Parts: sequence; C-alpha cells; structure tokens
Amino acid sequence: MKEIKEKIDQSNNIIIVGHVNPDGDTVGAGLALLLGLEKKYPEKRIDFVLQDDVPKNIAFLKGCDRIKKIEDVINPNYDLAIFVDSATIERVGKVAKLIGDIFKINIDHHISNPKYGDINIVKDISSTSEIMYSILKDLDIEITLEMGEAIYLGLVNDTGNFAHSNVTDKTFLVASELMRIGVNNNKIVNDFFKTKSYERMKVLGKALSEMVFVEEKKLMYFYLSFEALKNLNAIKDDTEGIVEELINYSGSEVSLFLREEESGKIKGSLRSKHNIDVNKIAGIFGGGGHIKAAGFTTELSSEEIIKKVVENL
Ligand code: 5GP
Ligand code: MN
Ligand code: MN
Repeated sequence: MKEIKEKIDQSNNIIIVGHVNPDGDTVGAGLALLLGLEKKYPEKRIDFVLQDDVPKNIAFLKGCDRIKKIEDVINPNYDLAIFVDSATIERVGKVAKLIGDIFKINIDHHISNPKYGDINIVKDISSTSEIMYSILKDLDIEITLEMGEAIYLGLVNDTGNFAHSNVTDKTFLVASELMRIGVNNNKIVNDFFKTKSYERMKVLGKALSEMVFVEEKKLMYFYLSFEALKNLNAIKDDTEGIVEELINYSGSEVSLFLREEESGKIKGSLRSKHNIDVNKIAGIFGGGGHIKAAGFTTELSSEEIIKKVVENL
C-alpha cells in the first residue's frame, strides 16, 4: 500500500481501466476509485476508460457519465495505469493501446491472474469491489454515498446477490459498513436485477426452452447465434444472466452459455455448482476466471467448443 500511495503521489495523469463487456464489479470498483482519487487529488487528471458501454442496469450509478470511451481521450500521455477486475492486460481490449509500457497497478480477484502489474493486489475474495473498499480506506479516502453505491453494486454483481460461495463474513462486514453510510440495499438490487428489457426476457425464454442437457457430464448448455439475437431485437447485454439460469436446474453441475458475436467469434460463459473447476475448462480456450465462474472468447465453432468441453469435463 505504501508503494501505491507513493506512485499515486508522483503521478499527475492516471488512467483507470476495466475489462471489456463491463460488469457491475469492474464498473463499481473503477468508479469508486475514480471518485475517491478525484476527491483526494483534485489537481491530478484521472480518467476511467472502458472499451465498451456500461450496461443500462449499471449505468444508473451516480458518476457513470464520467466514464470515458477511447475516443473521448484527447491526450493519452498517462504516467500510471490502474487495472481493476481484469485478469489479463488483454481483457481491457483496445484500451490497452492507451497504456503501452507505463507503470501498472493490478487490482483483481481472479485466480487466473498472472500478476502482470508492477504492483499487484490480487486476492481470492468475492470481488474487486471488496478489495477496493479496503484500498480506499488505506488511502485515507472517506467513502461517499456515490462511491459506496458503486462498491455495493460490485458486491451484488459478483456474489449473485450474496449467494455464491465467495461470500465471507468480511463481505457482509463491507456491505454492512456501506449500508451504514446510506447505501439503500433494496434500491440497488431492484435497479440492477429488476429492470430487465422486454428483449432480455425473450432471450431468456428462448434459452430456457432450447437448452440442452448432457446427462453423462451433468452439463446444461445453450448456444445463441448472432442471427437469433438480432431476430429477437436483442443486444449482447440482454444475454447477461442466462448462464446462471442454466446452472439452476437440479441436474446441472456445470452450465455453458455460448453467444456468437457479430465478428463470428464466440464468447463462452461457464458456471459450476460444486467442485468442477471451470477456470481450467475456460483455459483450454485461452480464457479464465474463477473455479466456479469463468469465460473465454474463441474463433472455434459452437460444435467444436461443445465437443471439447464435454471431452474435458
Ligand atoms: P462471464 O461468464 O460472466 O463473462 O465471466 C465469468 C468470469 O470469468 C468473470 O470473473 C470474468 O472476469 C471471467 N472471464 C470472462 N471472460 C473471460 C476471458 O475471456 N478471459 C479471462 N481471462 N477471463 C474471463
Ligand atoms: Mn468482472
Ligand atoms: Mn469481478
């Protein structure tokens, strides 16, 4: 922490970056850090840059409009980069081009993280947002309601609303502290989970009616082509949560959701109910994540992916 403080003190142009297809944890942790650093160091330029748009059910967070896209960055002469919730440098997508070989601080909670930073705070806990809570405290930054809501959404996102095995007594302590400063649990949870678009409900319906169960491997999977997505007038954000629904079947030990992107590449999401390590399965396709939740993007066809997953399970 001492080194991080020194590095921030010495830097005047700081870029915070999160992963592509941003979720509540990467946005929550990055936004809390942006707001905190701006409060403590008003003289410094601090940008939080993401390759992709923030999904609608996260964009209600106050301060989200301050997050920049690559084209908003006029002068990318940064002297410090802080990565949040990004298991590899490649996970930040095209934003990596703004960074080059400047000093990197890597704040993350993925077990697959190879510690690519010059300083690494990589802990196997619920979320990057839970780590960020401690970091802000250590930096003597008072957590405002806006920062608290961002961190709280990160916790809710990565713990499946405090239901996953990554929840500890410390996670609840952080949640409790955040409620104490005014975070409204019911409002955050409603805004995040209960504001789904019509298209999103339709895509979920398609997934639930067309999913396939591979009995021998206790695998439930569903593949959504780009054409099928378009036919439902849906966008990729509308497919969030499908993989979690597939694991809810009593017979499922593993679930796999495959979504074709416009480029033809396939994005895969994996979940595990008990002991099967899906981080290893995602690794076969160059991806990673956690034991119970992992992902990848590949140029292989859906048939090839399913064959490999079944073989390796
Ligand atoms: P999701 O399936 O929700 O996209 O991601 C599940 C978990 O795996 C998340 O923790 C996410 O950061 C990680 N993950 C998803 N896609 C990739 C990927 O392409 N590469 C790596 N290394 N991790 C991924
Ligand atoms: Mn994430
Ligand atoms: Mn995360």
